[in-house]
Amino acid sequence: MMKEITPQDLAGLIRRHSRLVALTGAGISVESGIPDFRSPGGLWTRYDPMEYASIQAFRKNPVKVWQLLLEMDATITPAVPNPAHYALAALEAQGKLLGVITQNVDNLHQAAGSKKVVEYHGNALRFVCDHCRGHHPREMLDFSHLPLYCLCGGLVRPDVVFFGEPIPPAAQKEANDLAQACGLLLIIGTSGEVSPANYLPMLAKDHGAVIVENNLEPTILTRGVTDYLLQGKAGELWPEVMKNLGN
Ligand code: NAD
Repeated sequence: MMKEITPQDLAGLIRRHSRLVALTGAGISVESGIPDFRSPGGLWTRYDPMEYASIQAFRKNPVKVWQLLLEMDATITPAVPNPAHYALAALEAQGKLLGVITQNVDNLHQAAGSKKVVEYHGNALRFVCDHCRGHHPREMLDFSHLPLYCLCGGLVRPDVVFFGEPIPPAAQKEANDLAQACGLLLIIGTSGEVSPANYLPMLAKDHGAVIVENNLEPTILTRGVTDYLLQGKAGELWPEVMKNLGN
């Protein structure tokens, strides 16, 4: 039976459990100025994902897909972590949290100081060749001449997982290992609509983890897998949790 909790209750749970793992999504970065995709005004309300975010679309019409990629880049590049990112980094530094599995591509967990970050959907600040996977430093790229090509002739792209592409095997393995090892899973800011990331909470639960969810609204995870729901903005609630933990 799912139960709603306060930041103070969550601090108590964190005190009583070891081996915390966080699974984060777009919602944790909203207060850093990066809109999630599904809320009103979000990218998916303006761009059809299959037309603009699938690997087939990118290879067929890269210039069109770069419209979306440039908009994402302009939003992500100046963004800085918010208190929720810093809270997870602090819990890791205190030896409570094993790591963060993030669906985000914005690098904000790393910027906040988190060391173990599983980039489940890649990282939009890195650019690679779609053909040879060679790296292309961002400062060498001229976004005014699109599309961008590698010396091998392949298309340069952000190192993110497009729709239609598999999760990088190393990230999938690390995510599975963390889910199976964890005692308390902190789900923050994900609607649970994107597969296969949305299987990780059930994997953790099947291996004995208690599941906490922090979202603005209940999601499909709330009824299916969540034990405790902390409803509200991550950037406002996590400082309260940390204060109750004595930070
Ligand atoms: P989503 O947009 O489907 O869901 C976001 C969830 O966060 C919603 O449940 C919403 O209620 C909640 N939320 C919004 N603001 C919040 C806040 N301040 N505090 C707590 N919760 C909040 O996001 P998703 O499940 O991550 O799936 C979208 C996909 O798009 C992911 O795969 C992700 O890779 C990608 N994406 C990434 C970024 C990013 O890197 N920052 C941004 C948008 C989308």
